[in-house]
Amino acid sequence: MSRVEVDTARLPLLLGELRLPAIARFWPEIAERSGREGWPAVRFLATLAELEVAERTQRRIERHLVEAHLPPDKTLDGFDFSHVPMLSRARVTAIASGDAWLAKGDNLLLFGPPGSGKTHIAAAIGRALIEGGYRVLFTRTTDLVQRLQAARQQLILEAAITKLDRYDLLVLDDLSYVRKDQAETSVLFELIGRRYERRSMLITANQPFAEWNKVFPDPAMTIAAVDRLVHHAVVVEMNVDSYRQKAAIIRKARAATIKRDNQPKDPPEPDRQAQTANLPLASDNQPRQSSLPSAPNHHPD
Ligand code: ADP
Ligand code: MG
Repeated sequence: MSRVEVDTARLPLLLGELRLPAIARFWPEIAERSGREGWPAVRFLATLAELEVAERTQRRIERHLVEAHLPPDKTLDGFDFSHVPMLSRARVTAIASGDAWLAKGDNLLLFGPPGSGKTHIAAAIGRALIEGGYRVLFTRTTDLVQRLQAARQQLILEAAITKLDRYDLLVLDDLSYVRKDQAETSVLFELIGRRYERRSMLITANQPFAEWNKVFPDPAMTIAAVDRLVHHAVVVEMNVDSYRQKAAIIRKARAATIKRDNQPKDPPEPDRQAQTANLPLASDNQPRQSSLPSAPNHHPD
């Protein structure tokens, strides 16, 4: 019986040329298993193709995570939803799956005082979307405004804004920190106008719309910007205490309890000590009313 000689020495070269690094890495192992288990050729080929695609997807997600510039360690798993009753886990999970709202270019606006968790939840949603295959850019609004302003001076503002189209979602953190001159804020206005009904934005701000006249010095421009942003948007007012302060108060309370429990005259009961160690960070489960603005908005579901 004649055997067709296969020149396996050339394989790495061929696979390299075809840019199939996963197949190049895995084929010896899969070929061995396939021979041992008597796989049909089609199964062998399909297994290698699946491996290549899976690895390619993973590499793409890693690239997108790098380019997104997300603040590190802010995940949905690390977010304590009991602190923000107006933002249920189910609702955020739906938002973080992307789908309909990103396809329509809808927006998400998060308002709340410092420490209420806006940056955390915005970054966590961004991360989840990237893991789901979307492209996201996270930026402080002032940084982006500066970049666009520089582009405008070089007469390449159009191109710079078009470049941002590659992102399914732009996260503009802390919009209300933008101040400065008319020229700066009009680049922001231009960006909002260009993404309107096409590409989504997630905007966080300490100040609700009433204060945005400080961002857009011309009131007509403020109205026009707000109009476009809220036309298809979910607006969430995170009117809660600072999570930092809450965490600090609980840490203090915990330390005081442990100190008290450790005093020799009052030895701690084992059960009580265990409870203290597990003191939950957020104990306030009382739902608070969210006061949505009267502007038309709808939920991306
Ligand atoms: P904001 O952007 O509204 O000022 P941040 O998102 O920066 O607030 O939150 C301040 C700190 O508290 C961050 O370290 C953040 O991770 C944490 N934090 C805020 N809210 C929560 C929450 N609900 N669960 C867990 N950590 C939170
Ligand atoms: Mg913030």
